[in-house]
Amino acid sequence: MIRYCPTCDRSTEDARFIGEFCEFCMIKLISKEVPESIALSECKVCGKIKGINEFLASEQKAMSEILQREIKNKEIRVSSVHPSGSHAAIARFNYMAGKDELVFEKKIMIKRHMVTCTKCSRQNSGYYQAIVQIRGERSAVSRMSDKITRFIEKRDSFIAKRLDLRNGIDLYVEDRKKMSSFFDLYKEHRPKKSYTLAGMKNGKKLYRVTFSLNLDVVKSED
Ligand SMILES: [Zn+2]
Ligand SMILES: [Zn+2]
Repeated sequence: MIRYCPTCDRSTEDARFIGEFCEFCMIKLISKEVPESIALSECKVCGKIKGINEFLASEQKAMSEILQREIKNKEIRVSSVHPSGSHAAIARFNYMAGKDELVFEKKIMIKRHMVTCTKCSRQNSGYYQAIVQIRGERSAVSRMSDKITRFIEKRDSFIAKRLDLRNGIDLYVEDRKKMSSFFDLYKEHRPKKSYTLAGMKNGKKLYRVTFSLNLDVVKSED
């Protein structure tokens, strides 16, 4: 039996039907549940865009996270987002209506707010959570310092300060967890750890950790 769409009068011979409505009207209805615009926070220093939990290098990934969060109807899934100029994006969606899948696109306007991301503001202020004191023979110390620096920078952290001393090198490292993971990975280095109280945050004591690494000691144990 031929049915007609109550909104546009298309018949079941002209279009696929999703329940009462033709597919075109259904898409119109569903796309109303997608916001016309979203707001993005962009770091003015490094250009990263804030996603749900962190600043991301991929603008597309950040956009789709934020867009998905703004859609109340969780049956609508963002499948891809393509920036179109700097103030708009074309987003593609999937919607499951029972067994029927609807795929549609919508142009989303982008409002950008310029901010400074956590990493960049920490970098500006010389923030650090850990100090690594590397001691030993000069060239070994220098190689170790480079190795740690590469390790830390690869993991999206940074060295806040490097002190070249008469007897070694001190590295001031932004993220103490990432510094600890270096020593978890390279178990042949067993630094002495000590803690100093750095301040309070939300009623909790904040500690800075100092890793004292003597490369000569490692060698003599080998
Ligand atoms: Zn229709
Ligand atoms: Zn930044």
